[in-house]
This record gives sequence, C-alpha cells and structure tokens, in this order.
Amino acid sequence: PLRTQCPPDKDQLGRATWTFLHTAAAYYPTQPTPAQRTQMLALIHALPALYPCNHCAEDFGASVAQSPPDVSGRAGLSRWFCERHNEVNEKLGKVAFDCAKTDERWKEGPKDGSCD
Ligand code: FAD
Repeated sequence: PLRTQCPPDKDQLGRATWTFLHTAAAYYPTQPTPAQRTQMLALIHALPALYPCNHCAEDFGASVAQSPPDVSGRAGLSRWFCERHNEVNEKLGKVAFDCAKTDERWKEGPKDGSCD
C-alpha cells in the first residue's frame, strides 16, 4: 500500500532547501556573467522574504545583512553558503560542517566511489 505523503515539516524543508542551495552553488560558474551574479543575488535576497518558516527567514535575513553574499564564482559562493549553514548548525547546537569538504559532499562524492 502507498504511504501517505505528508507536507514537509521544518527539518524536511530545511534539508530540501540546503540541498538545492549547496547544489546550485556547486554548479555555479567559476566566472559567472553579470546576469548570473544578479540572478544569484536575487535568489539569495528572496529567501528572507519568502522562505516558509518565519523565524528561520528572519535570522537568515540578518545573516545575509551581516555577511554580504559572495557571488564572484563557484568557490566563493559555495563557501558563503557553507558558512551561513554553519551559523544555523551552531544555533541548533549541531556540529559545524568542514567547509573544505563542500565539493565532496555536494558535487564530486567521496573518493572511494561509493556514490558513483
Ligand atoms: P541539514 O542541516 O538540513 O543539512 C543537510 C546536509 O547538509 C547534512 O546532512 C550535511 O551533509 C550537509 N551540511 C551540513 N552543514 C553544512 C554546511 N555548513 N555546508 C555544506 N553542507 C552542510 N531550522 C530550525 O530549526 N531553525 C532555524 O532557524 C532554521 N533556519 C534555517 C534557515 C535556512 C535558510 C534553511 C535553508 C534552513 C533552516 N533550518 C532551520 C533548517 C535546518 O538548517 C536543518 O535543515 C534542519 O534542522 C534539518 O537538519 P539536518 O541535521 O537533517 O541537516
């Protein structure tokens, strides 16, 4: 029998959103065009207005205001999202993620090939 599909709770929404954001950063160009930079900035700035968890959105807006997005290229953007995510991890009492491992986690997969 099919299991009932429930609406996402805060954690499921968060995992899905981080998956999208980190993956978008992992595939962002090394040398983005001015239009791509503008579009990425628009995406980031839309989150505090539209993310459907009010207190999450509010804190994320404060974080963006404190640390302006680095949309200069893939490496800088990936690091910027990693740092913002780590701020949420810290707030929730989770261990910090090692930002040097961002590409392995979101683009390349582990060296042992277990994700190939
Ligand atoms: P998640 O934190 O969702 O992470 C998913 C995976 O990403 C992890 O398994 C890990 O492999 C990887 N990862 C972890 N940290 C990093 C990092 N720094 N860089 C790259 N990859 C990483 N929840 C709240 O309860 N309160 C909030 O205020 C809140 N604010 C949020 C704001 C935003 C913008 C978003 C997108 C989510 C927010 N969340 C908030 C949700 C919260 O961040 C988590 O998504 C949720 O708690 C589920 O956590 P998780 O442990 O399953 O993994």
